Amino acid sequence: MDDLRLSLLLNAVSPQVGGVLVRGEKGTAKSTMVRALAGLLPSIAVVDGCRFACDPAAPDAQCPDGPHDLGLPDAERATRLVELPVGVSEDRIVGSLDLERALAEGVKAYEPGLLAAAHRGVLYIDEVNLLNDHLVDLLLDAAAMGRSYVEREGVSVRHAARFLLVGTMNPEEGELRPQLLDRFGLTVEVAATREPVERAEVVRRRLAYDADPEGFAERWAQEEKELAVRITAARSLLPSVVLGDPALRQITAVCAAFEVDGLRADIVMARTAVALAAWAGRTDVIAEDVRTAAQLALPHRRRRNPFDAPGLDEEKLEQTLEQSAGEEPDGGPEDDGPGPEGPPDGGGPDGPSGGGQDAPEQEASGEGAEAAPSRTAPAPPQPAAPAASPYRTRLLTVPGLGEGAGGRRSRARTDSGGHTVRAARPTGALQRLHLAATIQAAAPHQLARGRDGRALRLRRDDFREQIREGRESNLVLFVVDASGSMAARQRMSAVKGAVLSLLMDAYQRRDKIGMVTFRGSDAVLALPPTSSVEVGAARLEQLPTGGRTPLAAGLLRAHETLRLERLRDPRRRPLLVVVTDGRATGGPQALPDARRAAQLLAAQGTAAVVVDCESGPVRLGLAAELAQHLAGEVVRLDELAADSVTHLVTDLIRSKQKEAA
Ligand SMILES: [Zn+2]
Repeated sequence: MDDLRLSLLLNAVSPQVGGVLVRGEKGTAKSTMVRALAGLLPSIAVVDGCRFACDPAAPDAQCPDGPHDLGLPDAERATRLVELPVGVSEDRIVGSLDLERALAEGVKAYEPGLLAAAHRGVLYIDEVNLLNDHLVDLLLDAAAMGRSYVEREGVSVRHAARFLLVGTMNPEEGELRPQLLDRFGLTVEVAATREPVERAEVVRRRLAYDADPEGFAERWAQEEKELAVRITAARSLLPSVVLGDPALRQITAVCAAFEVDGLRADIVMARTAVALAAWAGRTDVIAEDVRTAAQLALPHRRRRNPFDAPGLDEEKLEQTLEQSAGEEPDGGPEDDGPGPEGPPDGGGPDGPSGGGQDAPEQEASGEGAEAAPSRTAPAPPQPAAPAASPYRTRLLTVPGLGEGAGGRRSRARTDSGGHTVRAARPTGALQRLHLAATIQAAAPHQLARGRDGRALRLRRDDFREQIREGRESNLVLFVVDASGSMAARQRMSAVKGAVLSLLMDAYQRRDKIGMVTFRGSDAVLALPPTSSVEVGAARLEQLPTGGRTPLAAGLLRAHETLRLERLRDPRRRPLLVVVTDGRATGGPQALPDARRAAQLLAAQGTAAVVVDCESGPVRLGLAAELAQHLAGEVVRLDELAADSVTHLVTDLIRSKQKEAA
C-alpha cells in the first residue's frame, strides 16, 4: 500500500512521471486510494468558459471554444479526476459531432467527451484490462499525441488532451497489451493485507472512525492538508533538482541490466528519481532515489514471461547500482543520452502476448491432473496425441448481422470483405452520408422550401446514411473435451487435427481465438482470447488427455470467458465451437448440469456449433442434444472438411429443397 501511495504522490509532484498502473486482486481498496489522489492535486487556472480547460497563459490554438484572447479573465478550479467506465462508447470518450447540424446549418456542433474533461487532470480507468481494444487504440493515440481527434465526413474537431493515466486491474482477468502497459509510468502490485500488524492497524482505524466519525474526519483532513502543502513545496523544488552523471549512469546501467526495451524506461526512471528527490526536499538525486525509481518504473517493462515473479530481482538491482556507481564514464562523447521522448508506439505484437493470465490456470490444470487419477484409478497421464494434418474446413458463422471489426467470417455492417452499399434513413446519429440518396430525398422539396440561391435546402429527414454490408471477424472460442471418453489415441489425433484446422481457418479470417479445455475435475482457459494462432496450436499440441468429463465446467468456463470478453470487446460477436461427443461424467447430475450450462449460454445469445466427435457402431446422439440446448448447430467430425462428401451431398440436397420450395 505504501508503494501505491508513493506512486500517486510522485505523479502529483511531477505529472511527467506518466501515471500509475495498480495491479492487484479485488477488495484491496485500490480505487479508494486513487480517488483520494485528485483531492491532493493543486488547482489549475483555466480560461473562463472554455469547455476544454485551456491554460490562460498558453491557450490551445485549435481549441474548439477558441480562439481565446490573451488577457481574458481566468478561473481557478480543482484538478479533475475523470473516470472512464469499461463499457463506455467511443462518442463518450472522444466527444460527439452532430453531423446533421454540421451539414444542414453549417455549424460545428461538438459535444466534448471524457478526453476533453480529463485534459490537465487525471484519467482513471478501473479494470483497464477489460477495456475494449478499439477504445484502447483511441486512448493510445490521444496519449501519444496529447490531442484528441474526431472526424466524420470531412468535418473534424481536435483539441488538446494531456492527462495523467491511472488504471487498476486484476491480472487474473487478463493482461494488458504491451503498448498500453508501456504508457503507464509506474506500476504497483497491491495485495490484500495479510500482515497481522497492518491488519490490526486497519481494524483500529475502523474502530476509531466508528467511535468518533467527526473527529476522525478532522484528523484525516488535517493530514490531507499537510500532504497538499508538501506536494506544492516539492513541485516548486522540482525544477532545481539536478540529475548528476553518476545517477544517470546508474539509471542506464539498471535499464540495460534488466533488459528493458527502448529508451522510455530510462526516461520514466529519470523523471521518477527526480520527483523522489523533490519529494524528499533535496535538490540532488541520490542512489536511494534511483533504487526506488527502478522498483516502481521497471517491473512492467521487464516482464516477458508470465511465469516470472512480479517485481525486480533485488540482489541484481543492488549489484548493478553498486557497480555503476563506481564507474567513470568511458571517455566517449556522451551524445547518446535520453532522446526527447520515447519512440512512437505501435507495431508491436497485438493482443495479450502469452499473458500472465494463464499462470493460475496452469496451476489449476496441474491440480486437476493430480486429482483425477486418484478417483478414477486407471487414467495415468498419457503422452499427448499428435494432431492429424490440418485441412480446409467449412465456414462456420454467427447468424444475423453484426457490427464487429472487419474480417472474413460473419455478415456485418462493415467496409471490409467485399462490401455492398445501400442507403437508409439513419437510425441513430448520422455516421456516413449517402450523398446521392440525400440529394434525391431533398430534390422534390426545393421549390416548396423556397430555394432561391444555389444552396440546396436540406432538412433533417432528407439525410440518408450509407449502410455497408460486408464481413466481420469474430471471437471463436473453442471448448474442447480432453477427457478419457475422448482419449482413444487415434480419435484424439483426429479431434486435434479438426481443432487445428479450425484454428487456421480462424487465423485466415482474422478472428480472435480462445480455447477452454476440460478433463478430470475441472475446466481451464488453456488459451485466453488472442490473435496468435501459433500460441493456440502450441497449446493444442501439448494438450494432456484422460480422466473424467466435466462438460458443465467446460461450458461454464466458456460462459465466464465470454462475459469478460464482452466487456473488453463488445462489438466482436463470439462463436462457440464445442468439440465433444456430448458425454458428461462425474455423478448423476453431470449431464443435467451440462444442459443447464448450455441453456445459460443460449440465453446469453451465444451462437454455437457442436462438433460431434462420437464414433463407433453404437451412437447415443448426445452431441446433437447438447446442440439443441445451446440453440446451435451440430456438425459431425467427418463433415467438418470443406470438401467432405457428406457435407457436399447434404448441401446439394438442401439447395434442391430450397429451389423446390
Ligand atoms: Zn479553450
